Amino acid sequence: MYQSLLSDARFHELLLAFDRDLADAARGTRCARCGGVLHSARYWRKPRGRACAVGPEHDQRFSFCCAVDGCRSRTTPPSLRFLGRKVYLATIVVLVSIMQHGVTQRRMRQLTEAVGVDRRTVVRWQLWWRERFTASAFRRIARATFMPPVDAARLPATLIERFRGEGAEQLIALLRFIAPLTGGEAHAR
Ligand SMILES: [Zn+2]
Repeated sequence: MYQSLLSDARFHELLLAFDRDLADAARGTRCARCGGVLHSARYWRKPRGRACAVGPEHDQRFSFCCAVDGCRSRTTPPSLRFLGRKVYLATIVVLVSIMQHGVTQRRMRQLTEAVGVDRRTVVRWQLWWRERFTASAFRRIARATFMPPVDAARLPATLIERFRGEGAEQLIALLRFIAPLTGGEAHAR
């Protein structure tokens, strides 16, 4: 069910539309360091895991640069496509990590082969979920949002179950929820 989304151009268009909205919101703000005006400073990525042809704009990460000389701080808004500096699409990181729980080895192998992710990467992602999620202010947000609290050991499977709908709907809700993890200065390059 989820796998078919990767080859659905409409799904990728939807993610891009969300990212445009997030970028518009960021453009309306000022430089966090000096209050300067923000200029567009998009950069190119080469995300892995898409299973259909889409336009080049899908490979651009929205980003902004402070216009003030001597500051030039970068502001990178949250994204539903890019998860920090990970080379795989956020969707892949979420799906493969979810598939780890409660599926057969055979299904897991099919998915990792289809998107070309090796086992070591999957293990790394698992750690990432646990660490990123349990560290930072994000944990407090999640704790306030979900009752009973989500089980960190089974992330992100335990998280996606909390959103209503099915398939794309649930996945997008999850991507939107974790989007704040994906932006910020630290992930600019
Ligand atoms: Zn500035």
